[in-house]
Amino acid sequence: MNVFASMDVASIQAGLAAKEFSAREVAEASLARVAAADEKVHAFLETTEELALRAAARVDEAIAQGNLMAAGALAGVPVAFKDNMNLEGTHTTCSSRMLENYVSPYTATCVARIIDAGGIPVGKTNMDEFAFGSSTETSAFGCTSNPWDLGRVPGGSSGGSAAAVAAGECTISLGSDTGGSIRQPASFCGVVGVKPTYGTVSRYGVVAFGSSLDQVGPFSRSVRDAALAMNALSGRDALDCTSQNVTCDFTANLDEGVRGMRIGVVREFMEAKGLQPEVKAKVEEAIAKLEEMGAEIVEVELPNAHAAISAYYVLGPCEAFSNLARFDSVRYGYCDPGHKDLGGQYEASRAKGFGAEARRRIMLGSYLLSSGVYEKYYYPAQQVRTLITKDYTEAFEKVSCIIAPAAPRTAFKFGEISEPAEMYLSDMYTISINIAGNGGMSMPVGLGADTGLPVGTQLIAPPFKDENMLRVAAALESVYGCAPVAPAFADGKVGE
Ligand code: GLN
Repeated sequence: MNVFASMDVASIQAGLAAKEFSAREVAEASLARVAAADEKVHAFLETTEELALRAAARVDEAIAQGNLMAAGALAGVPVAFKDNMNLEGTHTTCSSRMLENYVSPYTATCVARIIDAGGIPVGKTNMDEFAFGSSTETSAFGCTSNPWDLGRVPGGSSGGSAAAVAAGECTISLGSDTGGSIRQPASFCGVVGVKPTYGTVSRYGVVAFGSSLDQVGPFSRSVRDAALAMNALSGRDALDCTSQNVTCDFTANLDEGVRGMRIGVVREFMEAKGLQPEVKAKVEEAIAKLEEMGAEIVEVELPNAHAAISAYYVLGPCEAFSNLARFDSVRYGYCDPGHKDLGGQYEASRAKGFGAEARRRIMLGSYLLSSGVYEKYYYPAQQVRTLITKDYTEAFEKVSCIIAPAAPRTAFKFGEISEPAEMYLSDMYTISINIAGNGGMSMPVGLGADTGLPVGTQLIAPPFKDENMLRVAAALESVYGCAPVAPAFADGKVGE
């Protein structure tokens, strides 16, 4: 049966070590599975057969020499990368017409580290254009479906990466999270999704959206697999000056349980208007389980978190506006032909190359940074940023982890949310964490009572203490079990 990609890291490696199958067979089976399941899911924009087989050959070589682990901690594990991550020789489109024909001349550090750890790269995944969005509907190359209900979105912007793991097309995938783009799709697709503390993972080679907010992290179906990916990803990279020397073993305390741990609950979050009752019920249940397991639940306050979305939609577009200025049709990207003057070429190329949401963000950022306006919005947004960061610092003096919803609702239908401002609320529980810079993750806690769709609860850690949230997640996993492959894709099924 074609289920290698549905297995976790430990079971793949046990099978490899026992010579039940080879890494090449895993790679071929995963690629075949992507080809079949993706007819329904459309999580992938490109598959990377050659690279996968090359990586598998290295793993099989290590096995032949009797030392599987010499190939790395992720030896033989099928992985996929969001399409804003450079992988030499592949297209890196950011799901934009602007970069439709762009081929990466180099590999991002995060991608290289996963492959160096023995991961088998099976392909690049769909996303909202330039990571602007919460549903993957802004991709220029078609929508990705949620494997739990093909008529619904997988969330976004890393929707392809979340859906690929939920459909058992790969074991681990990488996403990027600027305001919630790992945690919200993880919640919608019922998988684990980790946004590490800013600086834990190098951003080198990841197409920049908001450079002070962007962070790369893994999706997986088990907490241990996410921790293994974190081990491979984290650490100083001379090519990204914001990366830090993180040397933590993220698997070290997964089995410690939560007895005696103080875990914070934010009342404003739990009582917020817009929080779907079925999500609230599931998060409350998870809180009760943690308490039963011996955690002390403590109320904490984040008095400025309500201003996070407003601050983000100033800071994010300002940073995006400057980062996207490089797509000028001369050095990169789509070039509209036939213009006599450069100004005309810029204008037409950017107007046609970028989709509506990207243009909206660029125009907003350009306006917000213009003289006179800057003082009115950008300064106060930075001040709000300081206040939110201070809120978290104070909260983490009382607790070592905070639990909250990951998203206010379960996955919505295609086209159901058309108002940008309403879409922006998808990240009401995640954005403040990017603003403060600490780590957050979404952990599946079962299905909502009303829709029957996956619900994620968010765990939030103090800066550079991401092991705390993984520990709490592992405790929840001992109650809820590992995230299953979505039913229509379980046991090798492909969406029938
Ligand atoms: N949904 C948010 C936005 O559209 C966050 C996106 C992200 O984290 N990349 O900006």
